[in-house]
Amino acid sequence: MSESTLADLIQGIAAGGIKIIDLTATLEPSTPTLQLPTDMGWGVSWPFHIEEISRYDDKGPFWYWNNFKCGEHTGTHFDAPIHWVSGKDHENHSTDTLPTDRFIGQASVIDASAESAANPNFLLSIDFIKAWEAKHGKIEPKSWVLFRTDWSKKESNEEYMNMKDDGPHTPGWEPSTVKFLVEERDVIGVGVETVGTDAGKAPEQDPMFPCHNIMHGANRCGLAGLTNLDKLPPKGAIIIAPPLKIKEGSGSPTRVLALVTG
Ligand code: MN
Repeated sequence: MSESTLADLIQGIAAGGIKIIDLTATLEPSTPTLQLPTDMGWGVSWPFHIEEISRYDDKGPFWYWNNFKCGEHTGTHFDAPIHWVSGKDHENHSTDTLPTDRFIGQASVIDASAESAANPNFLLSIDFIKAWEAKHGKIEPKSWVLFRTDWSKKESNEEYMNMKDDGPHTPGWEPSTVKFLVEERDVIGVGVETVGTDAGKAPEQDPMFPCHNIMHGANRCGLAGLTNLDKLPPKGAIIIAPPLKIKEGSGSPTRVLALVTG
């Protein structure tokens, strides 16, 4: 590889032949966060909260800045393997120790937006992936699989969370599909548009929360709360998604970018 590869990349961006698509939702107090049952005594993830420190005023005449706080898994965010109990004993499994090559990879974008619109509990199957591969080619090792549902286009938090009396109804994965992507395709991880990488009904799956359980159990990663997946080609995009380097972090809000040609 020569220096000209990087020069071509930067010239391509400057000249517009390579476009940068922002897959990130804006972080704001109304950003929806995962809601766990309240009757179990489990801890609560803070929603995004922001407070102005100064804005060119008597709190700081020449500068503007804010304090903010939120849970690590807020908005568009990265899931590190340490997030799940099945991934707790791996090495280099947190935001500060994950090898940095996990933060850049090719993307395969599986479009199940029609299926998800017809059935909010749609689960991606191996057959669905194989039919996609027959059209677009095999998913590369060390790539990200992005699950396009168009869920990020929901107009309200209510529709986005889709909470019913029996819990949330949002799309996700069949357990066998997650296993297939790890064992047969050796992916870095999967990315979704929903609030978490698993289906709303994941507590009823076997294993529970199969994407978290199996992906993190195999020291793989996740991206949740993505947007603009409809602007990506099925193949060929490069994803850039480095989480904040929080010591022993289980994840963090992340600016996720995709490079695409054309
Ligand atoms: Mn998460």
